Amino acid sequence: MTLPTEPIGSIPRPAQLIEGIRDYGAGRITADALETLFDNAVRETIRRFEDTGSPVITDGEQRKPSFATYPIHGSDKLSPGGVSIAFKDGHTRQLPLLTAGPFRYQTFAASYLESASKHASVPLKQAVVAASVLSLLYPAEGLPGYSREEFQEDLVSEAATDIRRCLAAGVTVQIDLTEGRLANAFVELNNRVLNQFTDDERRRIGVHTCPGGDQDSTHSADVDYAQLFPALFRLEVNNFFVQLSSEPDRARVLKLLGAQATGSRRIFVGVTDPIDPRIETAREVRDRVLEAATYIDPSRLGTTDDCGFSPFGDDISTSRDSAFAKIRARVEGTAMASAVLGG
Ligand SMILES: [Zn+2]
Repeated sequence: MTLPTEPIGSIPRPAQLIEGIRDYGAGRITADALETLFDNAVRETIRRFEDTGSPVITDGEQRKPSFATYPIHGSDKLSPGGVSIAFKDGHTRQLPLLTAGPFRYQTFAASYLESASKHASVPLKQAVVAASVLSLLYPAEGLPGYSREEFQEDLVSEAATDIRRCLAAGVTVQIDLTEGRLANAFVELNNRVLNQFTDDERRRIGVHTCPGGDQDSTHSADVDYAQLFPALFRLEVNNFFVQLSSEPDRARVLKLLGAQATGSRRIFVGVTDPIDPRIETAREVRDRVLEAATYIDPSRLGTTDDCGFSPFGDDISTSRDSAFAKIRARVEGTAMASAVLGG
């Protein structure tokens, strides 16, 4: 038996690309020159991803400005000053605010697959942002002539298109819900998106939750999984990618997860921590998987990284070398555990 193992998505961008994006913004390089940098970064990321042996890979989200803002990047219907996300180390990331309707995606995630699939020889997955995250763009005081209900209708439609185009391109989809620990009220909105898919389609859709990672810090680690899971597992998907390795009490979380691992659900537990600079060993990963397998039936278990390695495009707190070293440990440790569980 081989347990499935998948990444979450992002890999830190190469320094030349981060500089190139800045130069393009300042008018110092052309769109063609930037495109070359993007393509080089995607090709190199996929090559290194495949070298780790990971059976499923991503393009490292090299083209996403961030996991949350790629659909609105370049929109002229935004102003600064939206919801601010405070991280534990004191830094913040602020979302913009919508200034007018109708709400339309500028970029669909499937567009990233066009260049990624040229370079990949193993299956790709594609992460999309949850509708609940983008719902934060609508101003609290409302917009004249564009009600919150109209906005949500447009948002649900665009988010479903985002997923549908990825499925049509033949990849599996992961919905990034990294505000997940605040998500109770957002389940309904995300299910409105998921309800537009058949059971067969939903088998190729998963959801990722974590306390949010940026610049080696988190924003909602103090919200207990015991409060989150009842809402999370109301989401109508089959695959759950859950941050676990950095939890202070893994056994307690595994017990909660074990109770949810029923039916056709598969739970991918985080076995490497992108925020911790230390590289996990394959043996440590193996032991974490074996620990998880005592709570979650191995037929419903998989492994993942706790989070992406750089959900925001300019975050260079983790090096590419350590991201790939951690992924290699995940792949090797999962294979070691599979051998134990299979034998
Ligand atoms: Zn995450």
